[in-house]
Amino acid sequence: MSQALFDLSGRTALVTGSSRGLGRAIVEGLAKAGARTIVNGVDPARVETAVAEMRAAGHAADGVAFDVTDEPAVVDAFAGFDAAGTAIDILINNAGIQLRKPLVELSSAEWRKVVETNLTSAFIIGREAAKRMIPRKRGKIVNIGSLASELARPTIAPYTAAKGGIKNLTRSMAVEWAASGIQANAIGPGYMLTDMNEALVKNPDFNNWLMSRIPSKRWGRPDELVGAAVFLASSASDYVNGQIIYVDGGMLAAM
Ligand code: NDP
Repeated sequence: MSQALFDLSGRTALVTGSSRGLGRAIVEGLAKAGARTIVNGVDPARVETAVAEMRAAGHAADGVAFDVTDEPAVVDAFAGFDAAGTAIDILINNAGIQLRKPLVELSSAEWRKVVETNLTSAFIIGREAAKRMIPRKRGKIVNIGSLASELARPTIAPYTAAKGGIKNLTRSMAVEWAASGIQANAIGPGYMLTDMNEALVKNPDFNNWLMSRIPSKRWGRPDELVGAAVFLASSASDYVNGQIIYVDGGMLAAM
């Protein structure tokens, strides 16, 4: 009974930005829970490699490379799913970028790029997914936020604005679509070991600051997001809507 709650057999999951990093761990976790998965990234070669590795591990995986900020490409990708008879049951809006720069040095083009990749893309892809979920009266949307959904740190203003936006976009999706059988929730990862944090991981001063703040006293591993992702993608969370689950080693609780 309890295992059946988390069983994703018969469900199809699209995870944006899943060619590497947190998205890759999430897409593998969903596949292990039984979902048929669709891997995405900008770089087609990375998507192809991820799909080949997942299939070699025995998982049901396909790939579709598109830039999440390219609205016509997103619309085309969903038209392709329709043409192939693929219904997306689970959407994880994970693709994101970081840019570290003082606010006074930031151009509006840089601002837009970060906000469009981390926030606007979740609206556009969420809209395309929901249009198809609503008539089916079923769907799970999980947006990837961040500790930055709650906290500001210097030099990451557009990221913080976008991730704060993810929290309220998630709530808007939840209240608009709940009656159509859709649950929209978010995950807020803490500091995780991925390419995005490569420079910070190597910086001793940053590590000292970080370890003084995280009750768990360590960086998070990408696979540590899988439990929250499977929960929010599965029927175990059918009455959970508009929430954000922080997976951060206790960091937010200690701030
Ligand atoms: P990585 O930089 O390690 O991986 C980013 C992934 O997103 C890659 O698959 C990349 O594809 C893809 N991607 C980037 N831009 C686009 C785009 N425009 N269109 C499609 N795919 C894109 O990042 P993380 O795994 O660390 O981060 C994943 C998410 O988690 C992001 O939303 C991030 O903000 C969030 N997050 C991360 C934290 C961390 O500590 N790492 C903490 C809190 C939140 P490609 O390989 O083609 O470049």
